[in-house]
Order: sequence, then C-alpha cells, then structure tokens
Amino acid sequence: MLIFTENEALTTHLSSFKATKKSIGFVPTMGALHQGHLSLIDKSLQENDITVMSIFVNPTQFNNQEDLAKYPRTLENDVEKIKALNTSVIIFAPTVSDIYKENVVSQKFEYDNLEHQMEGKHREGHFNGVGTIIKRLFEIIKPSNAYFGEKDFQQLQIVKKLVSKYVIPVNIIGCSIYREENGLAMSSRNERLSKQSREKAAIIFATLNEAKELFKVKSAKEVTEIVVNKFKKTSDFKLEYFEIADESNLLTCKRKDKNKSYRAFIAVFIEDIRLIDNISMQ
Ligand code: AMP
Repeated sequence: MLIFTENEALTTHLSSFKATKKSIGFVPTMGALHQGHLSLIDKSLQENDITVMSIFVNPTQFNNQEDLAKYPRTLENDVEKIKALNTSVIIFAPTVSDIYKENVVSQKFEYDNLEHQMEGKHREGHFNGVGTIIKRLFEIIKPSNAYFGEKDFQQLQIVKKLVSKYVIPVNIIGCSIYREENGLAMSSRNERLSKQSREKAAIIFATLNEAKELFKVKSAKEVTEIVVNKFKKTSDFKLEYFEIADESNLLTCKRKDKNKSYRAFIAVFIEDIRLIDNISMQ
C-alpha cells in the first residue's frame, strides 16, 4: 500500500499513470475516516483506474482554533481502514509545511455569492481555506474525477464553482450522505460526542424529515419558524441556523417556485460540538 507524505514523490508516481491516460479518482478528506468517507472511496474505485485519497487537516479552513486543535487525527487507524477496503488506494498525507511552506494563509476566492450564505456567514474565511487547499491538491494530483459528499452541500457547490471559474479540468461528483443507524449524518466530529448525545443527535435528521413533510403544505418561512421554536424547547441543543434554500445559488427560499430545487440546511451545537446536515426537499 502506497503512502506519500511529500508532493513531489506523489507527482512523480502519478505522472507515469497520466502518461498512459489512466483515470485518476481523488477523494480529499481530513481523516478520522468513517463509512461516509469510505463510500466516496468505493465510488472512486468503481469509476477510475487509480484512486488517491488525501488526509490533511487543513488549518486555513478552521475559523475556530479550538476546533482545529481538537479535530481528531488518527492516521494509523485510517491507514488500517483503507487497507481493509482496498490496498490499491494511494494515500497522500502531507504536512502543513509541505502544502503551505512558511505561509499558512488562504488565497481569496469569489464564488458568485455562494460563499456568503449559511456556513459562510457563520465560519468566516472557511471557504477561502477550502478553495486554497482543494485548488492546491488538484494542482498536485491532477485528478480526472473528484468525489465530495453532499453532507457538505455548500462546499460541493463551491468546489463546482471553483473548477468552473479557474477552468480546472476535473469532474466534480457529489455523493449521497451516509448516516448512522439513528439517522445522524456520519462525521469525524461525532467521535467527540458522548454516547448519550450521539443518540440524542438523531433529532437533527428527524427534524429535517419533518421539515420536508411540512414544506409540502407550508411556506419556507413557516417551516423555519417551526424548527426554530422546536430547538428553543430542546435545551441540549443550540440551533445556529436552519434555512431552506435554492440548491443552485443557495439563496433563502422566499417564495416557492416549482421549477426550482430546494434543500433544507441545519447547523446545531451539542456539547459545544458543531454538527451540520441537509436534506433535499424534492
Ligand atoms: P471531511 O473529512 O469531513 O473533510 O470530509 C471529506 C469528504 O467526505 C467531504 O467531501 C465530505 O462531504 C465527505 N463526507 C463527510 N461525511 C460524509 C457522510 N456522512 N456521507 C458522505 N460523505 C461524507
């Protein structure tokens, strides 16, 4: 099983595949792998000759230093999980200095207003950090296809915008959300939840499903009010936002338009851990 920690060694290794026109599938992650990550790798393995997965906790996309410090780092364990899945997967686990040299700062990006909605409002600079690392990884790996989870739907739309604006020749493929048995979207952050909170966090997906039902007969504003009021009564959770937005431009739904696709988005704190999720309203 191949594990690279330096850009140059990986680029050299991949150039031989590029020369033979083999397709490269790429799955960027921050590690602490779970079944959701593995489902992306599975898809890439099915659709490409080679699959590269990166494991890199990207400092510039964290707006909260405590969150960055507490982010789980479990490289050895992650390698074991990949080995058990498929030993042909190439792992790229660079250091911060390998990616950023001495300058650990983001480039500035504009994503036609996508960056100012939801996560962008609550995590200042987050999508500049995401753009910086994804663009850098695309330059190093030059993938044919790259796989991103709908779990981070806004990020998926932003990455699509990034590659179209910067004319990066890669197909961006969205993958459906992998959930725990109780419906909680799998996330590396779930590892930090107590057993009790992990069970209680089922309320997030249950609420999204209720919202989806209500949206059939009520306006986005009415549904939002119901969700906000529900969380006011739920003392263990602090709702950061709930929004029903147009999937394509992520603008809040003011009036339903049957020609548009909507999605409900939620961010919630439990035990000071921030969890996000979303659901298609179609
Ligand atoms: P992360 O390691 O959290 O940066 O996630 C790496 C990739 O895995 C991103 O494209 C995420 O959207 C995706 N991902 C994370 N959790 C899930 C999940 N539960 N189901 C599907 N994809 C996921």
